Amino acid sequence: MNIAQLFTDKAQEQPERTALKLDDLTVSYQELADASARVAGLLVARGLTPGDRVGVMLPNVPQFAAIYYGILRAGGVVVPMNPLFKAREVAYYLSDSGAELNFAWHGMIAEAQAGAEQTGTEVIEVDPTGFAELLASHEPSDAVIDRAAGDTAVILYTSGTTGSPKGAELTHDNLISNIAVTQSDLLRLTSDDVVFGGLPLFHAFGQTVTLNTAMSTGATLLLLPRFDPATALAMLERDHATMFAGVPTMYAALLGVPDAPELPDLRICVSGGAALPVEVLHRFEKQFGCEVLEGYGLSETSPVASFNRPGGDRKAGSIGRPVSGVEMRAVGNDGQEVATGEVGELAIRGHNVMKGYWNKPDATRAVLAEDGWFRTGDLGRVNEDGFFFVVDRLKDLVIRGGFNIYPREIEEVFYEHPEVAEAAVIGIPHPDLGEEVGAAVSLRAGATVTGPELQDFVKQQVAAYKYPRQVWILDALPKGPTGKILKREIIAPASADTAAG
Ligand code: AMP
Repeated sequence: MNIAQLFTDKAQEQPERTALKLDDLTVSYQELADASARVAGLLVARGLTPGDRVGVMLPNVPQFAAIYYGILRAGGVVVPMNPLFKAREVAYYLSDSGAELNFAWHGMIAEAQAGAEQTGTEVIEVDPTGFAELLASHEPSDAVIDRAAGDTAVILYTSGTTGSPKGAELTHDNLISNIAVTQSDLLRLTSDDVVFGGLPLFHAFGQTVTLNTAMSTGATLLLLPRFDPATALAMLERDHATMFAGVPTMYAALLGVPDAPELPDLRICVSGGAALPVEVLHRFEKQFGCEVLEGYGLSETSPVASFNRPGGDRKAGSIGRPVSGVEMRAVGNDGQEVATGEVGELAIRGHNVMKGYWNKPDATRAVLAEDGWFRTGDLGRVNEDGFFFVVDRLKDLVIRGGFNIYPREIEEVFYEHPEVAEAAVIGIPHPDLGEEVGAAVSLRAGATVTGPELQDFVKQQVAAYKYPRQVWILDALPKGPTGKILKREIIAPASADTAAG
């Protein structure tokens, strides 16, 4: 068993077809297979043995895929890193994972090198010409190394619910099963599909749902190293993309592009990584005529755990039903399932749940029970039809004077305002109530609405204890590498649009 085999089989079946496209550069399945076999040859020549960890610190470029499948082909374990990391982060990932080799993109090499110096890790600089020459000087490895189902394939670092980043160990079985169910339950890709590849490939969502599903079905992946909504739309139109996958902020950004093209080839759109405001979903479907299906998962679950299915078996605002082979339930503090409709912590069990956190048995035990149930740190509920809803992250819950307030509910109201582009509701410390509700909002181009007006808009629609006592209008909300809004980094402006309620 080896994920690299899925891709290699497709390359044998259809060598001439385009695997990857980046601007005008195209890479065929044959070319990608050859490059990955040479990466494996290079690794073996350097003494890599199965199970060794290798860092990959690249943006979405063709070399990412060649190195990813090359490491796996040689039986190694991929440790993806954000190419924008600073030396200190690089050093942490390398020392924690014990990677002795790190592939790093030439455009961001300084920090990679500085980090690797601290850990004594060898760095292979990847620039298109030099790397092609390096590969040409190595023989391709003969075959894909066979791995056991429970052998680790990828270590994905995630903060999980608390603390510093921990490496979620995903096995070949975890990933192969997750790729298969995502494909069969949801995407139903064929080799004629053209998949948008603008989600970072170092993250679980982009890796499983775009790179691996596309490469294991023989589809074409359109690489976009830095997401920009206008560029993305132009690319979707020019290359006749049939599938779009993005986080909610990408959907919101695409809706903000003036004179957007029509996208008649777009067949399936998937959203995940954070809650997709219902209003954004409806607007997007209306404008582009493509069904938007929301899914849910975490790095620890490979990542797909639940999804809305195409063709009407779905519910706006819901994360859908568990994918086949995966169980999900909402549990109370005692770990017992709560009643239908009641809010509890979402727990997941199935083929997609990680083996554990790399070298962190205590952190693993804290979230993964012996009977296989993984606690997500997300609050949610299930309805009578088996559709799940994420209410909010446990740690984002605002408790105001003893009342629970789920920021997501308030954010949904903000998104109903036509001039709001993005909204994030957070708790702010309050001497008597413990916490108070605050909201940071960014506006659409040309908007004139004020903080107090927005506050009033929300106040009309929610119970008095829930509406934000402060509304800040910011130019943009802080975002993480995948485009998720980083609530903890919201800095309230000292004056201007602050509305005291
Ligand atoms: P990551 O490990 O970076 O993929 O982040 C996983 C977290 O993203 C989950 O624990 C959720 O809090 C959040 N998440 C993912 N998908 C959704 C969704 N559809 N709705 C709400 N939150 C989501």
